Amino acid sequence: MTSAVRALAHALKRSKYTVVLTGAGVSTESGIPDFRGSRGLWKNRDAMELLSLETLYYRPELFYTEGLRLLNTMRGKKPNAAHKALAWLEERSLVHTIITQNIDGLHYESGSKRVLEMHGHLRTCHCLECGNTASFQSLLDAVESGQIPPRCSCGGILRPDVVFFGDPMPPTFEEAVHEARKAELMLVVGSSLQVAPVSYLPSLSKEIAIVNLEPTPYDRTASIVIHNKAGIVFKELIDYLKTQQ
Ligand SMILES: [Zn+2]
Repeated sequence: MTSAVRALAHALKRSKYTVVLTGAGVSTESGIPDFRGSRGLWKNRDAMELLSLETLYYRPELFYTEGLRLLNTMRGKKPNAAHKALAWLEERSLVHTIITQNIDGLHYESGSKRVLEMHGHLRTCHCLECGNTASFQSLLDAVESGQIPPRCSCGGILRPDVVFFGDPMPPTFEEAVHEARKAELMLVVGSSLQVAPVSYLPSLSKEIAIVNLEPTPYDRTASIVIHNKAGIVFKELIDYLKTQQ
């Protein structure tokens, strides 16, 4: 038990409104690679270009083969100790909202209720023509059967409900700004806070705590900084909080 983890436990108990901001680092222990990280498996494949509106519109063949393959690496994974701990904290009103940069849906899967997904998710897709929503699986099935790009019954192209490079931020971003302003404590987990505009959110809250393997631009302004794996830190944190009950 480190003193920083103990300080985090007390900050959570003290704060009347805590918002958590999570990034790829919360899911790496679930086997999902962080393509922006220094050890990211996707680093050499230029995921940013592959998963962009430009590729979707002008090189659909590439988008719906290579791009879709990247998205698929995030499916079928299981929540880890950090996801479960955040759900546990929400149940006890020690966490009020989770803002996530991840699209893997693991916060919902671990039981968290109030989750704002800044970059979309892999549950559904929609038609670029009529706007109809369908399951992400139906898009995969269409591609699997050789339909590239996959199409809606109206003939329009189906696209994943993921925010790609070139897309505007979703309406939930406004909600995230509102939550960040309301927060007495913002706990950043597994995000190096490099991707704007989400990276500005911590500056809107009163106090910042950071759990991330690598340094972030907010380390100097945060009251608590822990450079370690999220799963390890949250296991210690929950064990400690349980002794306090
Ligand atoms: Zn349609």
